[in-house]
Amino acid sequence: MTASDSYDFVVIGAGAAGCVLANRLSASQGRSVLLLEAGGKDVSPWIHIPLGYGKHFTNPAVNWLYSSEPQAGAGNRRILQPRGKVLGGSTSINGLLYIRGQHEDYDRWRDLGNAGWGYADVLPYFRKSENQQRGADEYHGAEGPLWVSDVSEPHPLCDAYLAAAVECGYRHNPDFNGATQEGFGYNQWTLRKGLRSSAATAFLRPARRRANLRVITRAHATRILFRGTRATGVEYLRDGIRASATARAEVLVAGGSFNSPQLLQLSGVGPASLSQRFGIGVVADLPGVGMNLQDHYTGRIVYECSEPFTLNDVVGSFPKSVVAALRFAFLRKGFLAMGASYATGFIRADPAAATPDIQTSISPFSADKAGDKLHGFPGFTLSVRLLRPESRGSVTIHSADPLAPPAIAPNYLSSEKDCAVLLAGLKATRRLMDTAAMRSYVAREYDPGPSCASDTDLMDFLRARGGIAFHPVGTCKMGSDASAVVDERLRVRGLQGLRVVDASIMPTLVSGNTYAPTVMIAEKGADMILEDTAAQ
Ligand SMILES: Cc1cc2nc3c(=O)[nH]c(=O)nc-3n(C[C@H](O)[C@H](O)[C@H](O)COP(=O)(O)OP(=O)(O)OC[C@H]3O[C@@H](n4cnc5c(N)ncnc54)[C@H](O)[C@@H]3O)c2cc1C
Repeated sequence: MTASDSYDFVVIGAGAAGCVLANRLSASQGRSVLLLEAGGKDVSPWIHIPLGYGKHFTNPAVNWLYSSEPQAGAGNRRILQPRGKVLGGSTSINGLLYIRGQHEDYDRWRDLGNAGWGYADVLPYFRKSENQQRGADEYHGAEGPLWVSDVSEPHPLCDAYLAAAVECGYRHNPDFNGATQEGFGYNQWTLRKGLRSSAATAFLRPARRRANLRVITRAHATRILFRGTRATGVEYLRDGIRASATARAEVLVAGGSFNSPQLLQLSGVGPASLSQRFGIGVVADLPGVGMNLQDHYTGRIVYECSEPFTLNDVVGSFPKSVVAALRFAFLRKGFLAMGASYATGFIRADPAAATPDIQTSISPFSADKAGDKLHGFPGFTLSVRLLRPESRGSVTIHSADPLAPPAIAPNYLSSEKDCAVLLAGLKATRRLMDTAAMRSYVAREYDPGPSCASDTDLMDFLRARGGIAFHPVGTCKMGSDASAVVDERLRVRGLQGLRVVDASIMPTLVSGNTYAPTVMIAEKGADMILEDTAAQ
């Protein structure tokens, strides 16, 4: 590698997708790769200690800290939209759950006209990326860089939750990523020996010594450069100084579902009227850039627990905190080694649904909202997540200033069906607490409380107190219709030398979590990029 600012590939964003791309593309000898990341290095120990998750929700050192526009469907609140701004991107601050979604999610992508994206097509890429603690089988890989581990130890409250599910007639499912997703079981987390397996530690770290990979942190890409309709490089700001890098083969945008459409729009790739409004020259009139935003809206029910064995009790007690710290230091067990939730159930709240439409999960802690101080009493939280929302929103620039945040308007709960399914999911989740298995652990329902009983009251509660799962996708949709942004090889339509490779390309939101699917997208994307540029 020379000090030259010209590379075969320039990758923008070192998150889930960008780290995979940097690894897989630089494994190809003779190809040079530049990875630009707006955030800094992942040096904070709290990134690597799983419980640090709670600390980074509102930490501007590693988080873009976006906020939505006021949401009519969510009590006119602005909803916090955390996004990782650090090596590893959101995978350095996420909740560590490893849940890929349903087979049918990917078959739906294929049926929407995206050849090569059905479940059978994408499964090899999930397997390739994965290092599954339980070993390899038809659905899992054990030789990939991304570590997937069982919970370090069960928790009695979560055991009771799983027993309650069986009491209510649901099946036990030990593997949501196997033959079928439906049922209840313990989660698996993206952990390597008790420490977070972020995209930076899993994919970037092993590639960092390669001479053909250069990583520049604190480099904020501000514009994609074009010659005609061919992307030729990227302009970026570092320490207030403008710089640029040339891409001989391709520019790969991997900034995530908010920043990728923002960067395209700032570069004149998006709705022409939007570019014109801000005096930006139109490179390609693609009306779908920034549209089709989807996320998992989530209701949260909080219970006061009758046993003082929740995280709230540990955080509130110095001796218990010391014991927890020692258990983590020596055994890599206990609350410090945990992801955002312990156990999950996939259910069909709408009996007519062909596959689960609600994800419900238990976390042995409680707070008024995600990221807030934990309650002073023993508490736990049940989350109720709408898996396949119909509601659609948008991400648009409202300034030509690349450092200004985009306007994020998700339009949560703007579909009647979304409301009906979420409401049914809330009721089904609440029923789990009225079982022999759970009754002895429930001191009281704290939020919304038993007086909140009618459908109207419950819906008001969901709107006023609900949050999100932090899974925005869809804003650079893959497809072939007029609103598609990339084709099935992730090339930006109508342009050359430019792809988007990250969560934003999902045409529809998967019925699970989004780290694993984004890694899969980048694994598959890397293969396509190397194939398509082999002759260059
Ligand atoms: C709080 C939280 C909890 C979550 N919990 C889970 C979970 O438990 N399980 C799960 O599967 N998923 C979870 N997710 C979602 C998951 O982490 C994301 O879906 C995934 O990381 C998306 O990958 P990405 O590559 O699209 O974007 P990101 O991982 O967000 O990466 C984008 C990167 O690009 C950089 N970037 C953006 N713009 C620019 C620019 N202009 N110039 C240079 N760099 C730029 C960003 O700083 C960032 O590093 C969670 C996310 C959050 C925020």
